Amino acid sequence: MSKPQQSELLGLSLQQLTEITDRFGEPPYRARQLFDGLYRQRWLELEQFSPLPGDFRQRLREAGFSVGLPRTEGRFVSKDGTVRYLLAFADGQSVETVWMPEGDGGEAGDGSASGDEELESKTWSRATICVSSQVGCAVDCKFCMTALLGLARNLTAGEIVGQILAVLRDQQADVERDRLNLVFMGQGEPFLNYDNFMAAVRLLVEGVGFAESRMTVSTSGIVPRIADFGAEPVRPKLAVSLNASNEALRTQIMPITKKWTIEKLIASLRNFPLRNRERLTFEYVLLHGVNDDDAHAREVVELIRGLRAKVNLIALNPGPDILFATPEPERVLAFQRILTAAGIPAFLRRPRGRDIYAACGQLKHTTELVRL
Ligand code: SF4
Repeated sequence: MSKPQQSELLGLSLQQLTEITDRFGEPPYRARQLFDGLYRQRWLELEQFSPLPGDFRQRLREAGFSVGLPRTEGRFVSKDGTVRYLLAFADGQSVETVWMPEGDGGEAGDGSASGDEELESKTWSRATICVSSQVGCAVDCKFCMTALLGLARNLTAGEIVGQILAVLRDQQADVERDRLNLVFMGQGEPFLNYDNFMAAVRLLVEGVGFAESRMTVSTSGIVPRIADFGAEPVRPKLAVSLNASNEALRTQIMPITKKWTIEKLIASLRNFPLRNRERLTFEYVLLHGVNDDDAHAREVVELIRGLRAKVNLIALNPGPDILFATPEPERVLAFQRILTAAGIPAFLRRPRGRDIYAACGQLKHTTELVRL
């Protein structure tokens, strides 16, 4: 008999699992039990799926099925409690996923106060997980260390969900009890892996139990996908990585602007169907002497005038091979003041996990650090 093909169950929808249970001559409620074991219980091995009869589990294994959670290859803990995980998949490729207790991830992004609680004692009351959508990235933003990796491949829906399940397991977090947010702002451009990203979102809502309002996706401005995203019945909130106030400047630091101009980007956002009380988020990484002038702030005001939006300001997180510098705190505050004076809510994002290369734009498989 030929060797069975290895197939991972993680990433399959209830309907796809039902097709499998049908094939094995099992009743449909077995698919629900599989679904529950994968996404709610976060079981690692088929042996743990105790509601399933032993012979069915055995037949699944013999047919080559496994759960398919990523392997934790590295775990770096920052002094601020942030944890950067290096998670590896079946083919040996890996991505980074970041846990930020008391986080000010893109969802909150309001710079609210946070203590330096010791993570292991589980004193956090809320947390944000920053999730990757691709291995590397093809978008080539000039201030981002991930860009230096180039794109290796897209992640599957199972690999996107798997990152979150692995972190939830490690942190013993409970989706119903704890205040958890997900931000799709790790490695990769989610809208260049749109179908897998959206399949993962549906599994997170239907399977894992996350509310869509607790998730935010950030795009560099893939205009056609912004329209598709707006039409989704279930979707996270939308953030746009803006980083420049005019076409020439944005083209310089985000070359993708040549393909989808600022004008087209803002037009697509003006048509974006926001829900009740929903706001767009603009992320703006401030680069010393490049995009951080008062004049740039005033241009941003004009650019996004009339949009129901807030702006998250991020002073550049430095990294090797990144040719920009971090602006002085006073410059960042001056930029913020101009936005708020114009009626645009603007928040300073505290850097998280800079010491372990876990902060925005720093995810580049940096392993030359002590593993804790
Ligand atoms: S900022 Fe985001 S989209 Fe730009 S290169 Fe980095 S990972 Fe890719």
